[in-house]
Amino acid sequence: MAPRVVIVGSANMDLVGLSARLPLPGETVLGDDFMMTPGGKGANQAIAAARAGGQTVFLGAIGSDAFGVTINARLTAAGVDASGVRTSYGSSGVAVIMVDRSGENSIVVAPGANSSFTGLTESERRAIAEADVLVCQLEIPVETVTEAMRAARAAGTRTILNAAPARSLPPELLDNVDLLVVNEIEAATISGRSDIDMPALLALVPRVVLTLSGSGSRYADRSGTDAVVPAFPVEVLDTTAAGDAFTGALSVAWGEGRPLVEAVRWANAAGAACVRHVGASNALPTRDEIDALYASDPGA
Ligand code: ADP
Repeated sequence: MAPRVVIVGSANMDLVGLSARLPLPGETVLGDDFMMTPGGKGANQAIAAARAGGQTVFLGAIGSDAFGVTINARLTAAGVDASGVRTSYGSSGVAVIMVDRSGENSIVVAPGANSSFTGLTESERRAIAEADVLVCQLEIPVETVTEAMRAARAAGTRTILNAAPARSLPPELLDNVDLLVVNEIEAATISGRSDIDMPALLALVPRVVLTLSGSGSRYADRSGTDAVVPAFPVEVLDTTAAGDAFTGALSVAWGEGRPLVEAVRWANAAGAACVRHVGASNALPTRDEIDALYASDPGA
């Protein structure tokens, strides 16, 4: 049986303008190209989990605009159950992204409907209670994340918090996190230190996965496990959404009951499979792609 994964989080439309160089304040430059792709960490991780083989429900909010329709269609086409997504009157979340030819970018995110996603309904709580794993990030109001985590804990649903973007977290949120997924910047922000202090993180949550980009990841828990799990060597084209591919795949593997070090290794394969492709949601790997790379692992 495929594990049931619920993602509670953000959905955006990414509007990407490509140009030779970024404009200075007040300046207009003629661009090379334009792309429009659904994004947001919540929607990306839902697509990642569905493609990795999870039976995936996305709970979030879109606006009453054409972007919302496209975001919904993208989720559904990827096999995500988006039937519970809220539509609120106004704009969907939008990220306006400018990228130059060296890959440098400037981004404005207008959260739109994501910031109106508050106060979980009875049916949203039921979806969380029926799942094997709940995954949240920090692009929606932190009160909603706290509520979702509390509902999951009360129902015996395992919880994963991908604490991105970095911010300090209220204790009542951390108290309901079973597994924290962070990169080095997020880890430092949460523990309030400039270096990585695993014991300090494990004082807050029982299990931690630290993602280390091209160096793979590190898994530690309160039973004394502390393992570096090496990255899969791949040719890197675009690192956008690697963290989302990783977290989505990790939620599926953990929901399947795999031991966490093995689940992290499989999620490393998902992250590596993602960086071999350009773009965000289109680069999120399928289960077959993850399995194929996983089977090649010299570190297994
Ligand atoms: P984030 O984007 O959240 O900072 P990372 O950049 O650490 O996350 O990437 C998440 C995971 O994706 C890593 O733990 C690793 O397994 C994989 N990954 C990222 N970059 C590479 C890379 N250059 N080569 C191989 N794997 C990578």
